[in-house]
Parts: sequence; C-alpha cells; structure tokens
Amino acid sequence: MIAEHLKSTHFSDYLHQPQVIYDLKAKTKVEAFEELLDVLKDQKLIKNRKPVLTRVCDRERLESTGIGHGVALPHARMDTGQDLAVAVGRSSEGIEYDAIDGRPVYLIIMVVWNPAIPGLFNHVFAGLAKFLINPNYRKRLFEATSAANLFKALSEIELQLPEMEDRIIHRAGLLWKLQEIEIAKKNSKAKQLKELKEQADLIRTELDMALVERFDRFMERYGFAVAEVDNGVCMGCYINVSTGMGSAIDGSNDIYVCENCGKFLVSSKKKD
Ligand SMILES: [Zn+2]
Repeated sequence: MIAEHLKSTHFSDYLHQPQVIYDLKAKTKVEAFEELLDVLKDQKLIKNRKPVLTRVCDRERLESTGIGHGVALPHARMDTGQDLAVAVGRSSEGIEYDAIDGRPVYLIIMVVWNPAIPGLFNHVFAGLAKFLINPNYRKRLFEATSAANLFKALSEIELQLPEMEDRIIHRAGLLWKLQEIEIAKKNSKAKQLKELKEQADLIRTELDMALVERFDRFMERYGFAVAEVDNGVCMGCYINVSTGMGSAIDGSNDIYVCENCGKFLVSSKKKD
C-alpha cells in the first residue's frame, strides 16, 4: 500500500527556493545544521530548532551521514507538523564532516520527516541517491554560479519509490551496524539493552520495511543476516558470488543479495 504522499515525483514538491542556502557561513558540521534549521524555522517548516538539532546529532553519532563525494544527508525522524521538511546548503570551501570517505562536504541536504509516514524517507533518499551518484550532476551543484542556478539544478531531482532490488544503494554500513547491535543485544544487561534498542530503532526507521522484515527473518533463523564477501566468496554460504557482482561489491557501500543463500552481502573492505 502506498500512501498518497509517496506519489510526489519531484524533489521540488518539497523544496522551494528560500529553503536553499547558496553559500553556507558554517565552518563546522553542527554550525551547518544550525544554519539549515534556521531556514526551516523561518519557513515555518519546524517549530523549534533545538529538539530537531538534538535528534540530527544523535543520528549523526550512530553513523556519519556524509555519504561520500562531498555530499551529506543529515536527517531526523520527527513530527514537526509537516510530512517532510527539507533544506539544502552549499559550502564553497567545504566542511569537515567526518564523511565515510574522509573528504570535506560541499552539499548538505537536511531532511526531517514525519514518523507517521513510514517509507517517506526512503522514497526521498532513493531519489536523491540516484541523482547524486552522477559526478556531472554533483559538479553542477557544487559549482552553481548563483542561488537560482543551484535551485534549478536541485529541482531536476525526480523521486522514485524504493524497491527491493538486488542492490540497495548506500546502506551497507547501516545494515551491518544493525546486525552488530542485534548481536550485542543478546549478551547485554538491562541498562545497556535500552540504549542498544534505541540505536536499533533509529536504524530500522530509515531502512525499507521489506528489507527490515527480511533482515529479522534471517536473524531469527540463522543468528545473522548480513554476510561479508571475501575474495569473491559469500561468508554466509561459502559459495562464490558471480564475478560481476563480486567486483561491484568490492569497496562499495551498497547492499547486494546473495543469489545462493539470500543473505545481504556487504564488502569486507568497506567497514572501518
Ligand atoms: Zn551466500
């Protein structure tokens, strides 16, 4: 079942020009969050800055939302009275972000979405990822010569519904972390358990529901759901994955599915 909200096909349904900062003043990650939250508040897309900032920073501690190639997608799942609140900031000098590739960030897309609409974030994330993966498109955003040009380029982003394909973009680190947390939960004391459960819930809410259900089924049955690929071999079933898939997985942060055992596959080289 698809909610009415998920039928929006353009990012510009959610993003208007005043929600775009052409050149961020921020020098740090948190300053950038504050600047973007100011915009959301001015545009009446959020009521209070502080609780959203706290949530965004909590999420950030779990795993950097700097997805690499100079782009970051900080986000929070909160009811702010809107379905979705988005703000975008560009930094000409770049911001130290602790991104997964260690490089500075030049474009920050902040997303706050309503928990009453599960799947909304995936809908937006999948659409953004599809565009942002293109180096020429990123270049246009980073090098836009005016606020109007930047907004025009961002308006081209089309959204698509996330699908359970054989590849899920940019989520391997998060899924691996969820597995680590679930395993840790089994051996932890009550006090620690609460914190682990909160972390797990934070991850679950932003992964596709079908993916999470499949993950839980495997965890229950085998005690693990995500397997590394080591030298072209799935560590879940010890059978070679196809050559093409093996090289695609290598060093990538995308999730693949083993054609033999059905477990999620991640690169043994991607984690640090
Ligand atoms: Zn396998």
